[in-house]
Amino acid sequence: MTDTIKSLSALLAEGKVSSVELCQDSLERIQRLNPALNAFITVDADKTLRDAAAADARRAAGQAGPLTGVPIAHKDIFCAEGWLTTCGSKMLSNFVSPYDAHVIEQFKAAGMPCLGKTNMDEFAMGSSNETSFYGPVRNPWDTDRVPGGSSGGSAAAVAARLCPAATGTDTGGSIRQPAALTGITGLKPTYGVVSRYGMIAFASSLDQAGPMATTAEDCALLLNVMAGFDPRDSTSLEREKEDYARELTQPRNQPLAGLKIGLPREFFGAGLSGDTARAVEEAINQLKKLGAQTVAVGLPNSKLSVAAYYVLAPAEASSNLSRFDGVRYGYRTPEYRDLADMYEKTRAEGFGSEVKRRIMIGAYVLSHGYYDAYYLQAQKLRRLIAQDFVEAFQQCDVILGPTAPTTAFKLGEKTADPVEMYLSDIYTIAVNLAGLPGMSLPCGFDAQGLPIGLQLIGNYFAEARMLNAAHQYQLATDWHTRAPTL
Ligand code: GLN
Repeated sequence: MTDTIKSLSALLAEGKVSSVELCQDSLERIQRLNPALNAFITVDADKTLRDAAAADARRAAGQAGPLTGVPIAHKDIFCAEGWLTTCGSKMLSNFVSPYDAHVIEQFKAAGMPCLGKTNMDEFAMGSSNETSFYGPVRNPWDTDRVPGGSSGGSAAAVAARLCPAATGTDTGGSIRQPAALTGITGLKPTYGVVSRYGMIAFASSLDQAGPMATTAEDCALLLNVMAGFDPRDSTSLEREKEDYARELTQPRNQPLAGLKIGLPREFFGAGLSGDTARAVEEAINQLKKLGAQTVAVGLPNSKLSVAAYYVLAPAEASSNLSRFDGVRYGYRTPEYRDLADMYEKTRAEGFGSEVKRRIMIGAYVLSHGYYDAYYLQAQKLRRLIAQDFVEAFQQCDVILGPTAPTTAFKLGEKTADPVEMYLSDIYTIAVNLAGLPGMSLPCGFDAQGLPIGLQLIGNYFAEARMLNAAHQYQLATDWHTRAPTL
């Protein structure tokens, strides 16, 4: 299946295909290709086909919305009623959610059948999808390589055309980095645009859900479904519903005339691989042909973003993950002497090593005597990093750079050195610290035929504008249409 959501929606509306047929196609492809990719943790054909039949019935009754019947896969971080919801962890390996996350509710209300739950790094901690309790996800462009993380299952599933779209979450780059490494389009919205209710928490001040699909236009349509105020998330923003596709203009001469693109000096220095730098340069030229102008901007504090993030995110994680204690739900060690022994063994056995590393770092930076030296300092850096963007956006409408410093790396290549792994997110993390929207879209291939991602960063709530820049680029190029042969 190589169709976009937009085209599937038209086929459904014209009655040329049914939702049941679309879901059957996807399920067959998943059955055939998932064993090699490990993109899905849970598939339940009966449930999916039930959703599909309901969508077809709704259409027959004249009550279909634009995306009714289009199937979607969900990252296993979203609680979905009646579905095993593991977050990639042994800790939740027996957890069948009794309720729906806000994001799941929204897709259900839109009538989009759930194709299954996708694999991910354990508790969304990782950049390669190798920390999952369910084993690594493989990149469909080269199965010896990682798809990126933590939304690597969703990315691999869309890239391999197992599903037309999937949900992801992005705390430090987990939608954009795997989108880049698998050659798809992924969007992290402004913090607070999509409710975190029912989305298993990693670092609450950074976590944000977003769409992953093949085109920017599809991401806009999906964000229309996902976004919206939800009183159950205290950081959900009370704003009018907006149409994220409203600025997507038809092909015309110089469609991006008047758009100012900021190029941060810090994003084009050493550390960027040659092929990536070249592809990003070519993308800039293409955008200029479409009428955009470029301006150099500075993000002088962005070099501190990885360091600040790896204090703040673990601090929040250590607090969020304290709830997994074996008492109310999830994994519990089979044998224990007393309550303290039960807690200890449950957490020792239930969490993987990356999660334990984060909990220990988090507890350390929050402890008496270290709080001021680490946590408070990192909070101050966060403010400076965000302020850089405020200043940059006085000179431009969107910021452009690479999404990731390299293309997909080999499985096992970075697992021995956590810091090297953390540096995979060097270009994405500052966006989360600032709470800004960002996206990745395909802009070429390296010498080995691996996809390269282009990152666009928008100002607060400027998703629609950023999406149109990406859409115009995709109307003029065909990188996003290329799929791996499987
Ligand atoms: N790779 C980063 C981390 O390991 C970001 C993960 C994410 O965005 N969920 O924390």
